[in-house]
Amino acid sequence: MREEVAADVAELGSVGLTTVLVGDDPASHVYINAKHKAATAVGIRANDIRLPEDTPEDELLDLLAQLNADEEVDGILVQLPLPSHIDEAKAIEAIDPSKDVDGFHPMNAGRLYLGRPTLVPGTPLGIMRLLAEYEIETKGAHAVVVGRSAIVGKPMAHLLLQANATVTVCHSRTVDLQKHTLDADILVAAAGQLHLIGADMVKAGATVIDVGMNRTDAGLFGDVDPSAAELAGHLTPVPGGVGPMTVAMLLRNAVTAARSRGLEATTAKPSLPGR
Ligand code: NAD
Repeated sequence: MREEVAADVAELGSVGLTTVLVGDDPASHVYINAKHKAATAVGIRANDIRLPEDTPEDELLDLLAQLNADEEVDGILVQLPLPSHIDEAKAIEAIDPSKDVDGFHPMNAGRLYLGRPTLVPGTPLGIMRLLAEYEIETKGAHAVVVGRSAIVGKPMAHLLLQANATVTVCHSRTVDLQKHTLDADILVAAAGQLHLIGADMVKAGATVIDVGMNRTDAGLFGDVDPSAAELAGHLTPVPGGVGPMTVAMLLRNAVTAARSRGLEATTAKPSLPGR
């Protein structure tokens, strides 16, 4: 994917990505550093803005307005979480949807819901690419998504639906999670619960995608117990699976944003089958 993006960046001549990080969250700094390293490696002009923890909300919104107006900026990413005095929804909505490389803006979420071409969050987009790369049939498959967040679970469910899977979404109030997961041909674990999915919850031969990133003193672990590998047909590793794919898709989204900005987005044809 990174090679593909590098070729696209070279063809476009210039792609500009600006990231904004507010505050001192250590994990956020690690993520932003990784995104910049990856962006620079494929030839994207990456601009790294870091603001102090006590930055007023108005100041962040003003900065985003400037970035929206800046022709050199193709993509804007505001690293989450933001400090608690800043309204995250307000910050996301302040980004021009055509520059929203995280795909979190309500306009992009709505377009995804309608099955129209749009900027899609990197994690579920990367998972679709993994499924395609490993030739996992989605058409008619029963896909079970564990987690219903706006950045992973919900967009994941929509993309799988768009790829003609029959989709079940499970969450923290689901009764008898195992009953659902055992019936999954494709199981996406995105609950953020260490080893929530045991081997006894996986159907033999299923494709299991582990999105979870659970940091412990012993290291980084997923939502899927490693013993599930014996039953699963495929299982993504943690670390080294969905995480790097997510970063690669962010780069892909920066190229998509650079390409499509200025195009008449509303003329795009719906791609979600209605029935
Ligand atoms: P979130 O906390 O916003 O959402 C978690 C979801 O899981 C919720 O919808 C909740 O209902 C569900 N859930 C929680 N406990 C459950 C349980 N016991 N049974 C069933 N469902 C349960 O988290 P998120 O932002 O969607 O992230 C989920 C996980 O994915 C986290 O570990 C996060 O770190 C990881 N993540 C990884 C990447 C990546 O690049 N690899 C990107 C985003 C998130």
